Amino acid sequence: MTVYLHEEDLPAGVLAPGPVAVDTETMGLITPRDRLCLVQISDGGGDEHLVRFAPGSAYAAPNLKAVLADPARVKLYHFARFDLAALEHYLGVVAAPVFCTKIASKMTRTYTDRHGLKDLVRELLGKEISKQQQSSDWGAPVLSDAQQEYAASDVRHLHAMYEILVGRLAREHRTEMAQACFDFLPTRARLDLAGWAEKDIFSHE
Ligand code: MN
Repeated sequence: MTVYLHEEDLPAGVLAPGPVAVDTETMGLITPRDRLCLVQISDGGGDEHLVRFAPGSAYAAPNLKAVLADPARVKLYHFARFDLAALEHYLGVVAAPVFCTKIASKMTRTYTDRHGLKDLVRELLGKEISKQQQSSDWGAPVLSDAQQEYAASDVRHLHAMYEILVGRLAREHRTEMAQACFDFLPTRARLDLAGWAEKDIFSHE
């Protein structure tokens, strides 16, 4: 189990075929303002790859973009809406097809309102992850070991939770409805980027 840090792109051929877990770290929550600093990606085999982008990066990253845009690879996220917006804005790719563990959790774990990654990993996998580095400086010239470990842990458990949540969605007969939500997520991210982040376009108001 190794965490690899790469600069500006993923090396070719480091990921096994199949679904990949994806997460991003940025300078903040306002996507056009707060640059994309890191993309974390894992094939579920136990290693995590971190791709770091320098200030002023051209975000060329052809290998990473090819994986993200590959229609044959499902991309697993926790709160895909944010990551999809950052990936589209900075890398210019629609990183789909999508499975979002947060939406799957909301559509199956209706007995709780705790849908954060930490809570989900604890309940589904019985593991503890730290969110301590969440709001750290991802644009720093050197990422600390704690930051790298935190970034890697955000993609480490998504495959295992995906397996469980697929089963839960099927059990509750919500697979189709969830899939329709996942398919809409790239558009939801585009609405965020286009200025409808705070407006619910489906509400009456
Ligand atoms: Mn993260």
